[in-house]
Amino acid sequence: MALTSKQIHDALATVQDPDLGKDLVTLKMVKDVRTDGDDVHIGIELTTPACPLKDKIRDDIVEAVRSVAASAGTAVGAVDVEFTAHVRAPGEPSADNPLPNVKHVIAVGAGKGGVGKSTVAVNLAVGLARMGAATGLLDGDIYGPSVTTMMGLDTLPPPKPRGNTLLPFEVHGIRSMTIGKLVPPDKALIWRGPMAHGAFKQLATQTDWGELDYLIVDLPPGTGDVPLTLTQLLPLTGAVVVCTPQKVAVDDARRAVRMFQQLGVTVLGIVENMSVFVADDGTTYDLFGQGGAELFAQEMNLPFLGAIPIYPQLRINCDAGTPLRNWQGTPALGDTLDGIIRNVAQQVSIATMSGKFVQPSLSVT
Ligand code: ADP
Repeated sequence: MALTSKQIHDALATVQDPDLGKDLVTLKMVKDVRTDGDDVHIGIELTTPACPLKDKIRDDIVEAVRSVAASAGTAVGAVDVEFTAHVRAPGEPSADNPLPNVKHVIAVGAGKGGVGKSTVAVNLAVGLARMGAATGLLDGDIYGPSVTTMMGLDTLPPPKPRGNTLLPFEVHGIRSMTIGKLVPPDKALIWRGPMAHGAFKQLATQTDWGELDYLIVDLPPGTGDVPLTLTQLLPLTGAVVVCTPQKVAVDDARRAVRMFQQLGVTVLGIVENMSVFVADDGTTYDLFGQGGAELFAQEMNLPFLGAIPIYPQLRINCDAGTPLRNWQGTPALGDTLDGIIRNVAQQVSIATMSGKFVQPSLSVT
């Protein structure tokens, strides 16, 4: 006699999503349960295509089904678990949300310039899309936009208008928008506070993003006007803070973390960039004090999202505007980026399910 659908559901009700702290049935993640003779087929809908726990969840399901079968004295053949993903929004968008079709806005910030904030933002966006998420990238670094170069937009014509909105660029699997394509490349980008606010607001809300699972926002370095505008304008799921390991960089990153916390934004975690340099012969050179950012994350009680070594290939691909090449030819680089991307997605899911996210509290004009 084969397992019944109820027995399989009972088994699934004992399997926890380790991050979300609830079982798969309560979380409404079970989408399909079928048997074919003694074989069992189960469809599970994850909260992100970038889930880092697929293997653990699969193993736990197989064990739970076999254990229920053993107690019932029922034979069980193959247990096949198929994963799909549906990114969940934190809740119904509020009436004043200017981007109701964007499920998660994630800011990438840094205490100082040059630490690799834009590099992380670009690769986070492109990497999430590689894993199957609908992703956008907003270059909010209106003083020093890098997205034009890093996404290879230089040779493309300016964005096309549609009514009052601009159509984002669709390259490397994501939608992106940058002030860099709206002003001449050699023009100094000097903004007074209200102008910075207006420029960022227009870029964010007058781009026709369509439906997105994740909108990654590359913020200017430091603690200026734009993060303030962003938190006033859009509901933010959280912020990722990038820093290099040396003390002076960590000190600045601490200020960025404090700024987000003061604004009520969840800090999803810290990325250490330029962690070490690995030479072609495999020798590792610790240039900036590897591990400094991880210690900082521990000290601030924040998730450590991962460390990116210095890879000449990463710099070359950034300059050439070919981010997808980071996943070709240098497997360690692609694996490192994927690890960080999964950790970010994991923290987004945790923040979503815990209901901790910031609704804009001030209206802006
Ligand atoms: P920020 O946005 O913090 O100012 P960028 O992302 O623009 O910094 O990075 C500064 C420069 O360092 C860029 O040329 C980028 O290609 C390079 N870079 C960043 N991270 C790495 C890394 N891990 N390995 C090699 N080059 C890197």
